[in-house]
Amino acid sequence: MDFISPAEIKRIASRYGFVFKKGLGQNFLSSQSVLEEIADAAEIENEGVIEIGPGFGVLTNELAKRAEKVLALEIDDRLIPILRDTLSEYDNVKVINKDVLKTDIAELIKNEFGDKRVSVAANLPYYITTPIITSLIENRLPLKNLVVMIQKEVADRITAQPGTKNYGAISVLCQFYTEPELVCNVGAELFVPPPKVDSAVVKMAFRDKPAVEVKDEKMFFRTVKAAFSQRRKTLLNCLAANFPINKSDLTKIMESVDIAPTRRGETLSLEEFAKLSEVIC
Ligand code: SAM
Repeated sequence: MDFISPAEIKRIASRYGFVFKKGLGQNFLSSQSVLEEIADAAEIENEGVIEIGPGFGVLTNELAKRAEKVLALEIDDRLIPILRDTLSEYDNVKVINKDVLKTDIAELIKNEFGDKRVSVAANLPYYITTPIITSLIENRLPLKNLVVMIQKEVADRITAQPGTKNYGAISVLCQFYTEPELVCNVGAELFVPPPKVDSAVVKMAFRDKPAVEVKDEKMFFRTVKAAFSQRRKTLLNCLAANFPINKSDLTKIMESVDIAPTRRGETLSLEEFAKLSEVIC
């Protein structure tokens, strides 16, 4: 495949009599420059990469030009013979007909890439964006970069800073383990068929160690979850509803780390969540 355009995607679909399934998030990217941006951002020269949902293989094609090996997981069995044709010029691509959410990715990396760190690049199916991202991040996989096309609204939440309306538990999770950055915004007209929402590409480079030091990561994330449990309530009320500690003790605990009980969860930095989680347990 040389140059991808909306006309080319439509040509492939009509050649194979392929009908797009909305329920599988099948909005195929038809911009050559965005495909190249995603593949470049993954930084996979002579390394391994996993792609989730190759579709017709347009991103796979760009990944295969750069990577040592591409492993692509596609749930839709109608796409497997199409991918065999569209990717026939590459001997470094393996397509597996599997649901990413039912695949043990740690096991897959071990079997397919050995001890090497790999990256993940994908134009994600939007109906499962959050479960895919959280499971790739939470499972502490040996990943280098995660570069994903997602809904603009989710990209805004992942990259949001404390004190802004988009800042929430997913911002903290992603920023704790990775360094998220916006690669580019992508208009709906660059997909076939166009989705109902705007999109963006986000790159998350995995940190060697988490952004802030904590003794107990489980307690850190329990504190974060509690803090964001009711956005209109104060931090004190959110914590009181989620920990078996009375308000007067909680007030003292919060004041011991210079966090006013009247603040809202969305104003706390990662450092403040870390300090709070250390004293609340
Ligand atoms: N990579 C292609 C592109 O950029 O044009 C297709 C991207 S399309 C947004 C999402 C792809 O993910 C589709 O091919 C869809 O069939 C596949 N998909 C949907 N759910 C999946 C799942 N649970 N596991 C693996 N692939 C899935």
